[in-house]
Amino acid sequence: MKFENITTQLSVSGQLSISDIPALKESGVELIVCNRPDGEEKQQTPFDEISAEATKQNIETVNLPFSGANFTDDDCLKFAELITSKKRIHAYCRTGNRCKKIISAATTYLEKSEATMNQKSEIHIYDEAKYDVVIIGAGSGGIATASSILKRRPNTRIALIEPSEDHYYQPGWTMVGGGVFNVESTKRRTADLIPNGCDWVQFRAEEIKPDSNQVILDGGAKISYKHLVVAVGLKLDWYKIEGLEETLGKNGVTSNYRYDLAPYTWSLVKGLNKGRALFCQPPMPIKCAGAPQKAMYLSGSEWFKENKIGDVEIEFYNAGGVLFGVEAYVPSLMKYVEKYQAKLNFLHTLVKVDGESKTAWFKTEEGKVIERNFDMIHVVPPQSSPDFINESSLSDDAGWLDVDQYTLQQKNYENVWGVGDIINAPNAKTMAAARKQAPVVAQNLVNALNNDHGRVYYDGYGSCPLTVERGKIVLAEFGYPGLLPSFPSWINDGTKPTTLSWVLKKDILPALYWHGMLKGREWMASPNKSKS
Ligand code: FAD
Repeated sequence: MKFENITTQLSVSGQLSISDIPALKESGVELIVCNRPDGEEKQQTPFDEISAEATKQNIETVNLPFSGANFTDDDCLKFAELITSKKRIHAYCRTGNRCKKIISAATTYLEKSEATMNQKSEIHIYDEAKYDVVIIGAGSGGIATASSILKRRPNTRIALIEPSEDHYYQPGWTMVGGGVFNVESTKRRTADLIPNGCDWVQFRAEEIKPDSNQVILDGGAKISYKHLVVAVGLKLDWYKIEGLEETLGKNGVTSNYRYDLAPYTWSLVKGLNKGRALFCQPPMPIKCAGAPQKAMYLSGSEWFKENKIGDVEIEFYNAGGVLFGVEAYVPSLMKYVEKYQAKLNFLHTLVKVDGESKTAWFKTEEGKVIERNFDMIHVVPPQSSPDFINESSLSDDAGWLDVDQYTLQQKNYENVWGVGDIINAPNAKTMAAARKQAPVVAQNLVNALNNDHGRVYYDGYGSCPLTVERGKIVLAEFGYPGLLPSFPSWINDGTKPTTLSWVLKKDILPALYWHGMLKGREWMASPNKSKS
């Protein structure tokens, strides 16, 4: 057998036989890794036999088989770990090519981790740097606020703290689950979205010290600010539903609340010809309160088109007591509930899922637990404030950032501001709300930096485009004063399903997000000069 050296530590080859082991021993190999599944060819020596012979000669073995280039992230991490052992490693498969692929991926992973470690030690320079503004979270609200500040005061020194390489347009996931958008279209690299003039601090914030104007990062470094904007979004508590995490993404269990799972919703919908589909809504507050039922309507629309209603039974389980919190939209929604023959169950909270037996358990208001079998279940997790905000002196009793609902200034620390899902203002937690809040925070914060006491006000605007069928949307728009429609009803009546609202959601809003909101272009989002 020909052995090919990749580095001084690593070599690869095609299939080994027992007679190759002494030569490997001779060349100093301490660990043999098998990347080939047993039984690919008749004459192939099984891994167990190679392993038994190697063990006799004091060589360790690890079985890490995969086909083609289909190794998982986990396989790659395992290989990376083996490399860090510094042992002399020989890997084999059918030709050696598979081993080269996983070695290349594992080496790249290790190089990246090393770069991150180096960055972590450099981060202490932030101890000395004092930023005008530190923003925690470069999601929808964080990036929009940074852009809106720079638009008003271009030389403001801003740091955006955000650990994630990727940024998501989450409102698009409903459309992915409905087979309308491709999931990749909802993702961009964070690096490409950080506004020019901001420093991206690629770390996780672990603690806020509002009395000393500092944020502590993972790894321990500190970063100081004159003003702080908290834009960390909320936490998805999948773990609160027993058995859920183990079965998400398989056994018919799905959710549009995760990038990787939304495409599975659509494949389940397409594949279901007969059986029971459950759609669940957890207790409020959640982001986009309409999203649990949007998943139901878009699925129903597809089954209706395919003439499967009746064969597919739809059931909606809502922890709350009403279909939608703003009454004006309920009559239109009820027409679709009837059209899709969906059975509504209020005050039923999903508490447990068993994917293998396809069973879900719901707790009723009276404390009874009922059991339902399913062929498909769409789950939305309970949601809460991230722990480091919940535990800080900046939060209210429920854990949310405690802000004035109009100025979005923290109630006890005048140099702390909030935007997006994390705040405790009584608006609907939506991207549409963050779009209107970002200019308010930007203007008030810039005024404060310029020692100007003028203030602008947020009107509580939030929006929920309820995708009642493929091609039509009931466009719910509301705020503190009640309904806040963007258009007069003769152009678009938001309480009725319309094609114009569908076009808005499908074609216009994504572009408005990427090219408007995230760039500080405040189209239809100018802050109000008074509270009324
Ligand atoms: P996010 O955009 O979630 O950003 C929070 C950021 O903070 C993230 O990048 C995160 O990595 C970062 N972060 C978290 N913890 C830390 C930390 N410790 N340190 C540093 N950074 C941290 N809204 C609508 O308006 N219309 C819709 O139709 C709609 N549909 C939706 C459908 C679905 C399925 C979902 C999931 C959401 C939907 N939304 C919709 C809601 C909308 O996406 C959110 O309300 C919006 O993204 C909130 O913005 P945010 O900036 O508060 O949070």
